[in-house]
Amino acid sequence: MIRGSTALVGIVGSPIAQVKSPENFNAWFVEHGLDLAMLPIDLQEQSLDAFLATLRGWRNLRGCVVTVPYKQLLATRLDAVSERSAALRSVNVIRREADGRLVGDIVDGEGFLNAARRHRFEPRGKRVLLVGSGGVGSAIAYSLCLGGVSRLAIADLSAERVGSLCALLRQAFPAIAIDGDHASLADFDLVINASPVGMGDSGALPLSESLLETLSKHCLVADVVTSPEITPLLALARRMGCTVQTGPEMARAQLGNLGHFMGVTPLDI
Ligand code: NAD
Repeated sequence: MIRGSTALVGIVGSPIAQVKSPENFNAWFVEHGLDLAMLPIDLQEQSLDAFLATLRGWRNLRGCVVTVPYKQLLATRLDAVSERSAALRSVNVIRREADGRLVGDIVDGEGFLNAARRHRFEPRGKRVLLVGSGGVGSAIAYSLCLGGVSRLAIADLSAERVGSLCALLRQAFPAIAIDGDHASLADFDLVINASPVGMGDSGALPLSESLLETLSKHCLVADVVTSPEITPLLALARRMGCTVQTGPEMARAQLGNLGHFMGVTPLDI
């Protein structure tokens, strides 16, 4: 029940009906007897500036999760952002300070790593292949580098995106081997699909079947795609004997990071 006293958080994007955060957060708030609620906000782009002005003045609003297509557009319009948001020029969560200032961060990568740690994957010293260097892929790459991987190979249809992400990461993490080489998957400890390939009923794989047959069975194979939960990539990896990590696991593992940043949940929920 939303009351006059209820403090709010939002999730803004467009479209918004497909997002799972409102039911996840609202269920958690109810379970914990908290007078808090999350509202989904389907916002048109021409209203972004007015929306930000409203957020600054909205006294019973603690913060707002940000999803597609506003992660990059909002990153440059806040009062302050974290170092990783500044580097990646992207935010996926905003906190409203008591004085109305808006502060942003991007925690997609932390969510991914939380989920991977639940599969006993510790990034330090590991060799990783990341397919997809867009918003989510870049955030995962940054968190893996902060976590101390020894090698990160990045693949994307867009050579320009790979080039600019590699340049950014090499500058921030000079000790890590960052390249685009993935002629064989045998040496990787973690292979991630951070592209939309495999969404819906496309049946598509982000890497060729013959390349995927070179996977070691000790490799953790992860997908960010949330629907279907077991993507064609994960189904094939399972057949090869690999442990798999799904998109919904990553989304669930990020809730605490989002809630903690907005000040409405502990980090570990
Ligand atoms: P984006 O458009 O910013 O990036 C996608 C990247 O994938 C692009 O750089 C594109 O060139 C690349 N790509 C597309 N097809 C490819 C292919 N065949 N091979 C290699 N690269 C290819 O999108 P995004 O915001 O990074 O989102 C990516 C996916 O992550 C979406 O499916 C989204 O639903 C999902 N997502 C999952 C979570 C989660 O918690 N699980 C969170 C956010 C987004």
